[in-house]
Amino acid sequence: MVIDTHVHVFPDNIAKKAGAKLQAVAQIPCHTDLTEADTRIKLKEWGIDLGVVLPIATKPSQQRSINNWAKTVQHGGLISFGSIHPDAEDALSELDTIKEYGLYGVKLHPDYQCFFPDDEKYFPLYEKMAALGLPVAFHTGYDPVSPDVIYAPPERIRALARAIPALKVIGAHLGGHMQYDEVEKYIVGENIYIDISMAPLTCRQEQFERIIKNHGVDKVLFASDCPWTTPGMELQMLRKASLSPEETELILAGNAIKLLNYNV
Ligand SMILES: [Zn+2]
Repeated sequence: MVIDTHVHVFPDNIAKKAGAKLQAVAQIPCHTDLTEADTRIKLKEWGIDLGVVLPIATKPSQQRSINNWAKTVQHGGLISFGSIHPDAEDALSELDTIKEYGLYGVKLHPDYQCFFPDDEKYFPLYEKMAALGLPVAFHTGYDPVSPDVIYAPPERIRALARAIPALKVIGAHLGGHMQYDEVEKYIVGENIYIDISMAPLTCRQEQFERIIKNHGVDKVLFASDCPWTTPGMELQMLRKASLSPEETELILAGNAIKLLNYNV
């Protein structure tokens, strides 16, 4: 089984506009049209059994509509996280809604939401996520949307994870997109899950292998950041790594099943 734990999909009515906007920022090819239908077809073609959608509330007012939509996505090869905007007045109570809806965790994108993840004012949110058993997935490291300020570098993610050890933290992009030396310094060995999305585009094979082995393969999640890479690229990178079949299986699905409490 292969689970892609980092997939972006948009509601049909905004997929086209969102795609054009994101592509202008990312400046790399987009491998789906960002709709649910196309993503389901492509994931299947790429050999992915389950995709985990990670939506992002870029404004406080979007939380509920995003979570209402995320709930409808969860069938036929897709499950979803919910999103809150950390500065929304009702962010705390929206976490109850995410739990009630049966969504699998919370996605936060500090560069789109303009907040520092280790800021203590957000700790009540994290404590509630931990209490509800909701993992939180962060974009980490560089993002072209905010080239001058990196809101979630490895050091801040570590500070947060150490402050709230009961929280299940997922650092996308190996825990620090394009900051892999800092990942080795601050993330490796910590109580943090890392996903391998985008690594084929920006990380050397040798450093990739060193990071996942030293960190512990039981805390590494297969992911692509679809549509910005195709999972085939991450699969190839993972299969090239000198890991046992059991270790590879953990990364491809076993760790995610356990972390997300997913009923296969
Ligand atoms: Zn992403």
